[in-house]
Amino acid sequence: MLQPGETIGILGGGQLGRMMALAAAKLGLKTHIYCPDANSPAFDVTPYKTVADYEDEAALEAFAQTVSVVTYEFENIPALAVEFLKARLPVLPNDNVLKVSQDRLTEKNFFHSIGIPTAGFEAVDSQEDLVKATENLGLPALLKTRRFGYDGKGQKFLRAPEDLHNAFAEIGNQPAILEAFVPFEREISVIAARNAQGQVISYDIAENVHENQILKTTTVPAAISETIAHQARQIGEKVASELDYVGVLAVELFLLPDSFDQRLVANEMAPRVHNSGHWTEAACLISQFEQHIRAVAGWPLGTSQRHSDVVMTNLIGNDINDRQIFLESGKTAYHSYGKGETRDGRKMGHINVLSPKSQV
Ligand code: AMP
Repeated sequence: MLQPGETIGILGGGQLGRMMALAAAKLGLKTHIYCPDANSPAFDVTPYKTVADYEDEAALEAFAQTVSVVTYEFENIPALAVEFLKARLPVLPNDNVLKVSQDRLTEKNFFHSIGIPTAGFEAVDSQEDLVKATENLGLPALLKTRRFGYDGKGQKFLRAPEDLHNAFAEIGNQPAILEAFVPFEREISVIAARNAQGQVISYDIAENVHENQILKTTTVPAAISETIAHQARQIGEKVASELDYVGVLAVELFLLPDSFDQRLVANEMAPRVHNSGHWTEAACLISQFEQHIRAVAGWPLGTSQRHSDVVMTNLIGNDINDRQIFLESGKTAYHSYGKGETRDGRKMGHINVLSPKSQV
């Protein structure tokens, strides 16, 4: 259990690291951010920083000397960094979690191993595999690289047989999976947290809308039945328990229409605080960021109770230029990540708009 004034090391200096550092500061804990990019937004909120490559052993050693525990804001951390650090101090969530979530095939197999349904899928290591997989799964389908895909990157949508032509080359001739297309009614997500003592909590289920494959809005409560909401929370909590997880995680789920027997299927998990949990910052007593810090510090988790209905909207690219409107609106909480350069598709901040809690 960390004592006030101790330091949490965070790998990654993006907005998630920044918001974790802010939450830690609120609890009287320090953070040391490690990130190769000197312009990282998280560096603005803590004086303790390392700008170095993730495979720089001297920098990792010096970092390890200054922190009591290490956590991370992204899942694609090079294995060397994790191996190096875990030989010296706790890295939370544990490295098995990273192995599961870095690879779409391993992740899907994990979901199945604990009884959580997914879309049909097959491993694809060549153009010939792809042709075979489409014969088994049918079209439409999505070809996705096993590693390093996010916000729709490394993916190709295959609608008709002619789309297969050259498709494996188009995603970079990398190990991939083919996933059956899921005709979902809604996309929802569950944010769960677990601490080392085995205490598990989950937040109310969020409904997500994507634009150009980037999250645009999250609405809570989701327009789903209590039964589905309960099942979704169970999924998040089960994943956390089965992985001996410490920290916050997200599981993205597809909700299928009523006519399907199986209504919830898992899309993917993120072993970290998640964009679809930013609403907790304004609509809950304890945010996902604070929950994560409490867990990795070995502290008791807080309540996940929500006091308001909420819509979170990501400010992407030039959306951030409307700040005056958000600041003048009496019911909008504006959050900027302080990024210097505005680029199309770049997450620059978010707003949360609250309304009184509905009875749902
Ligand atoms: P992912 O990177 O796997 O989260 O995919 C990005 C987005 O593509 C998801 O949020 C969905 O909107 C869509 N998508 C991904 N996989 C499927 C699927 N199997 N069926 C239908 N839509 C999908």
